[in-house]
Amino acid sequence: MYDLETERVIEEIKKLGKENPIVIFQAPEGLKLEVEKEIEKIKNKINITPFLWLNSCYGACDLIEDKVKIVNPDLIIHYGHKKLDYVNSEKTIFIPAYYKGDREKIIRDIKEFIKNREFNVITTVQFEKILEEFNPHVIIGCRVEVDSNKDLLFVGTGRFHPLMLAYKYKKDVFIYNPISYKFDKIGREEVEKFIRKRLSAVAKLKFMDIKKVGVVLSVKKGQCRKKKFYEIINLLEKNNINYLSILADEVKPELLFYDVDAYIIIACPRIVLDDYILYKKPIYTPEEFKMFLNSDFNYKLDEVRE
Ligand code: SAH
Repeated sequence: MYDLETERVIEEIKKLGKENPIVIFQAPEGLKLEVEKEIEKIKNKINITPFLWLNSCYGACDLIEDKVKIVNPDLIIHYGHKKLDYVNSEKTIFIPAYYKGDREKIIRDIKEFIKNREFNVITTVQFEKILEEFNPHVIIGCRVEVDSNKDLLFVGTGRFHPLMLAYKYKKDVFIYNPISYKFDKIGREEVEKFIRKRLSAVAKLKFMDIKKVGVVLSVKKGQCRKKKFYEIINLLEKNNINYLSILADEVKPELLFYDVDAYIIIACPRIVLDDYILYKKPIYTPEEFKMFLNSDFNYKLDEVRE
């Protein structure tokens, strides 16, 4: 159902001009089995030494160039995302994996919904092409900027992106799922519930006797916000809060068993926002922890910009 651009991949590999190049294929969970077939196809056409990357591919923030140096690859094919301008890479080619579904039905559904109203159509990279005629705004690295005067229609799957949009633009977000063809909506209540939960988590810090916190910095290429890390460390020192600095690739609940009162996660903001409930000790985004230190209870979203 997704265009993995076999021919373009083959061209890129040929361009290397190598006899038997080492090529690593990295894809999100949902695409890995399709990529397995893709490797078969490519192997039958040209001479390569391919590897499928077993571990994560959460986004274009999650590049593996540095991790795979030991096998000295000639090329890395990264599926499912577009390059982020603040993450440099030398050997990675991005294949967005455009959706190849029922274009006509999707367009008809959306047109019928929009009618004569003015909408920002917002989508993820997979659906960018199929939605071309709506001039969609594409979410790159979980971020997007739109004209806030128009209504918002998110076309895609999952509720996280539309929830973030609803929060950021403080209005209802309509949703169309181009795979199930179902419409849905995120209303004010859901946004308010989300903010209330995180605000009460921040408020909880006030009543805690914080002796020590864990500060987790991700080494994933597009998540490793060193500036933010040092900013937080300085603030902790100023406030006489002891800390343990932790470097992480995958952040997982069972790995955070240290003798600290809370963790600040400087990585993918969604680890905190999607998964906080899975963690034994409270976890916070750097923005949330700053809110606590500043006694500022206007909720601030953690967005990765560099
Ligand atoms: N296929 C998913 C990808 C979401 S990316 C989707 O489109 O919805 C965001 C998620 O990736 C986070 O909620 C978190 O579960 C995971 N993630 C990102 N970076 C991570 C890291 N460094 N460690 C652990 N999980 C991470």
